[in-house]
Amino acid sequence: MSSEETLNEIAQQIVVCTRCKLHLSRKKAVPGAGSAKTAVMFIGEGPGFHENEQGLPFVGQAGQFLDELLSQAGLLREDVFITNVVKCRPPGNRDPQPEELEACRYYLDRQIEAINPDVIVTLGRISMSYYINNGKISSIHGKPIWFDNRMIVPMFHPAAALHQPSLREVVMDDFAKLPDQIQKAKDARRQNPEVVSQSQPVLDDDEPDENSVEQLSLF
Ligand code: SF4
Repeated sequence: MSSEETLNEIAQQIVVCTRCKLHLSRKKAVPGAGSAKTAVMFIGEGPGFHENEQGLPFVGQAGQFLDELLSQAGLLREDVFITNVVKCRPPGNRDPQPEELEACRYYLDRQIEAINPDVIVTLGRISMSYYINNGKISSIHGKPIWFDNRMIVPMFHPAAALHQPSLREVVMDDFAKLPDQIQKAKDARRQNPEVVSQSQPVLDDDEPDENSVEQLSLF
């Protein structure tokens, strides 16, 4: 089965999924969209009002800003894959609950496996927490680490910049670095996959361990 066929099969399962209680309040599940052959995946938090209406990821104001950011990085939405940690809208846009995250990770892990991206960009603290324990996004945004043989780049959620205009330039600066990071991830995976697969980010303290992040950073 091709990666595209696998993604389609996962999407068909998501739209009828009842693995957690978020299925009770959803209008449309949002499996994700984009290329199955991309080098980079973007993982946000969960569908909002507009995404729940349309069944597509990042279609509201935050989505428009994401399109701007992608364009600035020389990327088109159709050339990357965009999804969320939960595929159904949490009521009132609340944070997904642990059991919802756990239930929906079943799909996210299979999407990542099918696409096998060189780079995963986490958008916001919830998707970041899948890869970095106790890190503060305000300290580690834009700093790549390796996890499970992929480069992970934690970034602010685009909606954060809409709510806090001072973050806009920060988010744009982080995206500006992305083309170079993608190329370095491709090169590193091609040249030395075993070494990068052994690096694991571990941040144990409440406060971000800048030294650990620095050690895990590639550049
Ligand atoms: Fe299923 Fe995920 Fe929707 Fe929960 S959020 S019902 S696990 S697709």
